[in-house]
Amino acid sequence: MTDVQGILLAVLTADCLPVVLADSKNRAVGVFHAGWRGTVKRIVEKGIGEMQRWFGTRPGDLRAAIGPGIRGCCYQVGPEVQTAFQSQFAYAEALFRETKARDEIHEKYPLLFLTARAPGHSELPKQIFLDLARANRRQLLDAGVVAKNIADLGFCTSCRVDAFFSHRKEKGMTGRMMAAVGIRA
Ligand SMILES: [Zn+2]
Repeated sequence: MTDVQGILLAVLTADCLPVVLADSKNRAVGVFHAGWRGTVKRIVEKGIGEMQRWFGTRPGDLRAAIGPGIRGCCYQVGPEVQTAFQSQFAYAEALFRETKARDEIHEKYPLLFLTARAPGHSELPKQIFLDLARANRRQLLDAGVVAKNIADLGFCTSCRVDAFFSHRKEKGMTGRMMAAVGIRA
């Protein structure tokens, strides 16, 4: 965060969510790197608190932008991530989506397995997906940012590797996007 004119602040991401904040009244800005670990530690909520403390920012004056990141459609996480959110947020349930893993061999050749699985033994492992954008929007709102002042680009980096870098989709062999903000001198 800064209120110094003429410099740019930036974060580099490739799936994690960049969140940019601008207080045009007090002329202060901030940019935050919100992966699941930062989100569970409330980096955006705390960032707004720090802007209040250092710059006298009123959350109602803030404008926020949520950049491209991996979205709930693609962001599969382990149960430990869900547990971490459940321990921190009363609304954790609204941030996760669960599906049964697709059993492609069984779907493709059902006859092959018709008698292979006894009833009640066909439970497939569940897949858990986290909606980081929703989690960070919620933190912005809880900190007092007005809904109409939140701009979410809505892009999923994993769905759109034609336009963005995705650490997960591209298995770590990828670049980084830069989200930057500054105050004109
Ligand atoms: Zn996606």
